[in-house]
Amino acid sequence: MSRLFWVSCFSCITSIALGDSNASWSLPQPTFGIDGSPLWNAGAWPPSNVGVPLVPQAADSELTDLLSQFNTSRIQNIIETLTNFGTRHTLSTQTDPTRGIGAARDWIAKEMRALAAPSNGSMVVTTPSYIQPVADRIPFPVNITNIVATIKGYGEPNRAYVVTGHYDSRRLDVMNYTGDAPGSDDNASGVAVVLEMARICATKQPYATMIFAAVAGEEQNLYGSNFLAQSLKNASVDVEANLNNDIVGTGSNEPYDPVNEHTIRLFGAGTNYLTNTSIADVMISIGGENDTPARNLGRFVQEVNEGAVASTDMQVALVYRADRFFRGGDHESFLSAGVSAVRFTEPNEDFRHQHQDPRVQDGTLYGDDMQFVDYDYTARVGRVNLAAMWSIANAPALPTDVTFDVIDLLNETQFYWQIQNSSLLQGYELVWRPSSQQQWTHSYYVGMVDQVTVNLSKDNVVFGLRAVGKNGKKSPAVFPLPDPAEYGPY
Ligand SMILES: [Zn+2]
Repeated sequence: MSRLFWVSCFSCITSIALGDSNASWSLPQPTFGIDGSPLWNAGAWPPSNVGVPLVPQAADSELTDLLSQFNTSRIQNIIETLTNFGTRHTLSTQTDPTRGIGAARDWIAKEMRALAAPSNGSMVVTTPSYIQPVADRIPFPVNITNIVATIKGYGEPNRAYVVTGHYDSRRLDVMNYTGDAPGSDDNASGVAVVLEMARICATKQPYATMIFAAVAGEEQNLYGSNFLAQSLKNASVDVEANLNNDIVGTGSNEPYDPVNEHTIRLFGAGTNYLTNTSIADVMISIGGENDTPARNLGRFVQEVNEGAVASTDMQVALVYRADRFFRGGDHESFLSAGVSAVRFTEPNEDFRHQHQDPRVQDGTLYGDDMQFVDYDYTARVGRVNLAAMWSIANAPALPTDVTFDVIDLLNETQFYWQIQNSSLLQGYELVWRPSSQQQWTHSYYVGMVDQVTVNLSKDNVVFGLRAVGKNGKKSPAVFPLPDPAEYGPY
């Protein structure tokens, strides 16, 4: 397993202890990753006695139990059933009981309702729909239906987290809605993750609200997810994150190394996706371009996966991009609605089996069929999702109004924020990392206060602030902005 790469960065840190004002620092010896590449000692500078080397927040017994409930044969059954509808093209028939997107929609809704039955009403299934008029890739008005299962949080019901997977499929010609489009990997696999998470969580009570959604219209232009994201926004639901699963069916595509069977990519968008362009501008101007809410959500997913790695058996490869080159997905609908959102996608896509018409050509088998899906892999991706979803929905909300003082030229850094009104909240924790590191390297718990000054220059590192719950669960980090009274308004 190559997942040791993150933790091993700490091995080169020589002497850092909270409160040790005499911490000494010497040039560390080079260390090397398991593939022999140098780790560059990037975690060893600057020297500091602020905080301690960060230990990923660990899975508690409840989460470990939930993760153990992922069932590979259920994943297989969902992917095979969806594939057997022949096509799930958004424009395909909605009246045929066995073929087309209407049959797939009805099966997913029936399945979701069956999963919700043991919840005694705490998981509510709805099928919100609308008629999409003629538009790009929509030649005639068509009904777009999402299947949405919601478990209201017992602590903060208006704070919500949404996991998505689109259930529509396509062929080479995106307007061909009659031919076979099996869509096993793209994206019955993502729907399987959503449904299996809903099954496992149906009888659980999270602190904040969890929403499990199978959406339509993705291939035609993200219509279903846009409808969902905008509906939640219009209803003033405080959606703090979207985890989108799209093409999560296999890690074993030839000729790539089999180690990819234990890797999932996670795409996190940059500042160009922020809806507040004033904030985007100031983040770029102070070197905050890698600390958008989406990228800090990505770091959070990576961290909780690391803490649950004995159960997930996966590593999360965070990519600083909204998506693959010139591609897109349903997370963008949430980003456009001002929501932090990331996309899970398998590590090396096999384009013979994606958006293809099923056929044999020049001896090569094309088509997105179920024989190319690894159900165990999809189950592992599901575990990563569930570790993130359960952890974030049971952690305190993101800290608010997190700022630092920028008026005075100082080598120390002064932070300010608002204390949230939450019965779950225990206090706050500052995290930091050298600016060239991807993941937080240090944490400094500061307690139930609304400001702190640390002897570490904001010029040399990147800071984040996160909320810590009485249950030990921590929110994603929030990037501090220069005090708007001094620099804004935003
Ligand atoms: Zn897709």
